[in-house]
Amino acid sequence: MRTISATRHRSPLARWPRPFAFALHLAGCFIGVGLTALLAGTIADGDLIWVANGVLLAYLLLVPRRLWPAYLAAGLLGHALGSFFIHAPWQARLVATPLDVVEAYLGALLLRRRSAQLPKFSQGGYLLRFIAYAVLAAPTAAGLLYSVIAFLWFHGAILHTWPHWIATDGLGVCVVTPASIAIFRTRFHRSVLSGKVWARMAPLAVVTLLVFSQAKAPLPFVLYPLLILVLLRLGLGWAAAATLFVAAAGGWFTVHGEGPFAAALTASKLHSAVLLQIFIVAAMFMLYSVSVVIENLRATERRLREIASLHQLMTENSRDVIIITDFQGRRSFVSAAGSTWGGWSREELLGRTSMEFVHPEDRARMAAIVAELRAGKDDALVECRVKTRDGGYVWVEASLRTIRNPVSGIPTGILNNVREITQRKLAEQKLAEAYHTVEAMAITDALTGLANRRRFDQYLTIEWRRCMRERNPLSLVLIDADLFKSYNDAHGHLRGDNCLKQIAEAIQDVVSRPGDLVARFGGEEFAVVLPNTPDSGVYQVALDICASMRNRQLPHAANPAGIVTISAGCATLVPVLGQHAMALIDCADRGLYEAKASGRNCACAGPFSSANTVDRLIARSA
Ligand code: GH3
Ligand code: MG
Ligand code: MG
Repeated sequence: MRTISATRHRSPLARWPRPFAFALHLAGCFIGVGLTALLAGTIADGDLIWVANGVLLAYLLLVPRRLWPAYLAAGLLGHALGSFFIHAPWQARLVATPLDVVEAYLGALLLRRRSAQLPKFSQGGYLLRFIAYAVLAAPTAAGLLYSVIAFLWFHGAILHTWPHWIATDGLGVCVVTPASIAIFRTRFHRSVLSGKVWARMAPLAVVTLLVFSQAKAPLPFVLYPLLILVLLRLGLGWAAAATLFVAAAGGWFTVHGEGPFAAALTASKLHSAVLLQIFIVAAMFMLYSVSVVIENLRATERRLREIASLHQLMTENSRDVIIITDFQGRRSFVSAAGSTWGGWSREELLGRTSMEFVHPEDRARMAAIVAELRAGKDDALVECRVKTRDGGYVWVEASLRTIRNPVSGIPTGILNNVREITQRKLAEQKLAEAYHTVEAMAITDALTGLANRRRFDQYLTIEWRRCMRERNPLSLVLIDADLFKSYNDAHGHLRGDNCLKQIAEAIQDVVSRPGDLVARFGGEEFAVVLPNTPDSGVYQVALDICASMRNRQLPHAANPAGIVTISAGCATLVPVLGQHAMALIDCADRGLYEAKASGRNCACAGPFSSANTVDRLIARSA
């Protein structure tokens, strides 16, 4: 629970044992209330400003609520003794004294709902509640009670006593409570002794005496700027204390018929004390308003300072380089990390434009992104190479964000968060290479280097669909080594493998168009996909492949031809909807079967091939 005891560490009483400190605080309350009641009574019979209630309310707003009864009792005693010297009937004093304490209690009760709540007069909301409850409502209620009792008991004039009570008590609370609280809570005992305080207060005191001691020059307004000065330099507590001094001095002179307010009596018919009260209320209103504005400004300044130091902490400690540029690339800010990579000093980075650092190949891309941001895009992420001081390049990832004019929203520059990613880029490159290798392996036949069966199937499907869309003929040649089992038997498997490589080369010698694909179909079988090739064309290719292999004159002991020969079946179809690419394979396979049946070393067109319907040819080696 934060109470007066929470602030006690700043007070000399903190060194005292707790019960002593409490007793001293109670005594302070008693003396404070008593003295102020006495003072007000002595100066103006309590006619001008009733200070004692303000002191008691200040205590009630600071101490824990459970201690209120003790402080109320001390306040009551102080009131009773202090007001003893007021020139008023004993009945009036008897009624007013407890009602004053009730009024302070009522104000505190309305204002302080939670025990832990501490007064903060520079907060607009609190100030409004303070004025509504403690300055207006509580004196109005207590004043009404007093006026009614006074009327019934000793025939007091309600219409005079009630507004008079509200004015004197309200004014007292409004001036004295903030002053007392500020005094209790600050190191008043120290600042009282400081020259700074007296340098501000002494001129005010002198001017106050000058203003109120004569009536020739009506100069009370001169006090306002001096009060503002005290507020700005010393705070609301001292400003309220200064206002209290002005009220006391003004009250003394006015009550004794001197000064501008007493002189104004004849002119305005207004009671001179009321004029002084209005003057004091206006001064307090001015001080309250200015202190609320100052507090708001200070809070904003505090927030800004916090944000600025947080920003500095982040930018100075971030491993990323934070750069602010305009749209011409001119840099206005480079964070500390700028000098840790690339070898550039912060000054060198600040002196040049961004584009000077970007790799020539990346500049056009970078310029396009900057143009997009300038046109209104919010952010962009870009990878590019930037120059290092030794002439090399490093990869960086730049996270770009458009900076806008906070009022107009027009883009004014770019916040650039740069992170070096050379290592990541190298790892990515290695990964991509490995991926391409694996991808190539997945579609390549290891022995011959041709496309494998998987690639053949993919390619045939793709070309099948394309030729279907474009209504073009798709041709296929299936090739099989003749009597290859016998070749293995006669020459061994290793030479058999070598022979398969020779067959692959013989096929590739013939098939040269970019869209054609030569693949190992399986075992000693090969396939050639020929898009956009008519039946006559594929048949010629099949014949040429057979001839190409013969031309190699590779000895084959078990082949009647004495050399390695191959047989080929070919087919051509214009794919139609509902038909599958298997139809083409099947057709070429039948051609191959027929070539084998016809004695090998030849090419045949399959039965459903268009070539078959026109001219069924069987070619034999010459
Ligand atoms: P045909 O003229 O009727 O095609 O007779 P063939 O002996 O070639 O027919 P078959 O299908 O009976 O034999 C194919 C042989 O091809 C079986 C196998 O020994 C051989 N072969 C298949 N793949 C390879 C390979 O990768 N390397 C080697 N060395 N031989 C293979
Ligand atoms: Mg075979
Ligand atoms: Mg064979």
